[in-house]
Amino acid sequence: MKPSPTNSRIPGFLTLAALIASSLAALGNEDLSKPIITTETRKGEDGKDVLYMFIDGVKVHETDVTKQAPPAVVTPGEPAGFFAPPSDAIVLFDGSGETLKTNWTDTQGKASEWKVVDGALESVKKAGYIQTKESFGSCQLHIEWAAPVNVSGDGQGRGNSGVFLMNTYEVQVLDSYENPTYADGQAGALYGRSKPLKNACRKPGEWQSYDIIFHRPLFDDQGKVVRRATFTVLHNGVLIQDHAILSGGTGWMGPHAASEYKKHPDAMPISLQDHGNPVRFRNIWIRELQDKPL
Ligand code: MG
Repeated sequence: MKPSPTNSRIPGFLTLAALIASSLAALGNEDLSKPIITTETRKGEDGKDVLYMFIDGVKVHETDVTKQAPPAVVTPGEPAGFFAPPSDAIVLFDGSGETLKTNWTDTQGKASEWKVVDGALESVKKAGYIQTKESFGSCQLHIEWAAPVNVSGDGQGRGNSGVFLMNTYEVQVLDSYENPTYADGQAGALYGRSKPLKNACRKPGEWQSYDIIFHRPLFDDQGKVVRRATFTVLHNGVLIQDHAILSGGTGWMGPHAASEYKKHPDAMPISLQDHGNPVRFRNIWIRELQDKPL
């Protein structure tokens, strides 16, 4: 039977919609309605309200491994590499006190109390975050780090720091060598948002590398995000974030919730977290990247 004009138009319309959707995807636009993020407020043990956030049905900081499986362990290759900066990189820290003084401050713009030890930049408890004087947007960032060789604490309390792009979006630094914690908070996680694909952590005290390719989020005039940030991250040469679209902010909002996107300038400092553990960093360099147009 010949389809009625109405019936024949509906499939045609759907096909056209699918074509438009795929064309938009090809242009780099994305479906901002996904993943599905829901929140609910529950009463904590102390009777206070606690915000819970779920990303595609999985609770932020889910500790039940049947609901959020931990990434498989991969042993990175030996020996660990030292990736000298390419000719067009901006060197942010080369192991010298001079690059610490020239390129970094505390969050108030004063000289940081972080110290240089054996050519490494070491986090000092209660000194606060350290940040670059210069601001950056989209970039390729290389950074090497080592968890304290003297292991102390466990879970999030062991070798915790973080690399913050635009002072805002955290790639977690944590001693995840035989140190279980929630998957979206272990080394290489986009904190609370995206667990790493693998656990490629080296032992405490050993140098490890992150190579981060970051594209900043874009906002409209009303402050709404129109293109979300993306992260590709290699940990010790192992791909652990594969062009991951960051579904929102990574700021800690409670035991099971992360912050949302909030409009910010196009360029902001890179910062490193003081989480109370003497994590060390070295060989930090950056290459600025252009953003694709919307
Ligand atoms: Mg951290």
